[in-house]
Amino acid sequence: MTADAQHDYAAQRRQMVEEIARMARDARSETGRAVLGERTMAAMAKVPRHLFVASGQADSAYHNRPLAIGLGQTISQPFIVALMTDLMEIKPADRVLEIGTGSGYQAAVLAELAGTVYTIEIIEPLGREAAGRFKALGYRNIISRIGDGHRGWAEHAPFDAIMVTAATGDVPPALIEQLKPGGRLVIPIGSQPGVQTLYLIRKEADGKVTRQAVLAVRFVPLTGGPGR
Ligand code: SAH
Repeated sequence: MTADAQHDYAAQRRQMVEEIARMARDARSETGRAVLGERTMAAMAKVPRHLFVASGQADSAYHNRPLAIGLGQTISQPFIVALMTDLMEIKPADRVLEIGTGSGYQAAVLAELAGTVYTIEIIEPLGREAAGRFKALGYRNIISRIGDGHRGWAEHAPFDAIMVTAATGDVPPALIEQLKPGGRLVIPIGSQPGVQTLYLIRKEADGKVTRQAVLAVRFVPLTGGPGR
């Protein structure tokens, strides 16, 4: 890639971040946050989204839209990536779990903010491709594996924060178990396609679990399940 093309992507990324800031203001009555955190926005301004989409789609990578990543899956709209990231309130030493690696873009954004990101993908070719991107881009704090995220990742639990990037009828119990007291879980809930609500779930210091509806969203379904 030429220096000019690089420069162009950086400019497109800055525009994307402005668009995210605009959407955050517009959605403030629903989300309760008019402004997303500085660290979140800096991560959005840094991660090269065009390297996480098919090469033919690089020029659409910084539009504030979801994109197809093959095998029926999608990379979320940048505003949703930023909002979900912000809701996690990640601190630099945090251990974070993501279910649904997909392209790897969301994991890379999380890796800019956290100590270590563990990410699980159920579709093998997607998981492999994402792992290749993490390596090529030097994300050494992302540990990925192929598998069913319903069971979480017990060997590395507990986590400071967990994000699920596919929709499910209810929160897989293993994920609540693997969350630290004081931890946060962000997940789209709803069993019908296109009718889901993004939830912020908190596990209080005493273990009590509370949930707060944040925004209407649309995600691909979480497949697999407890019996598999
Ligand atoms: N976070 C991704 C987008 C996720 S799309 C990104 O940034 O690109 C949702 C992903 O979840 C898909 O790749 C899908 O295959 C995966 N998925 C669905 N069910 C899953 C499960 N049970 N465990 C792990 N991954 C799952």
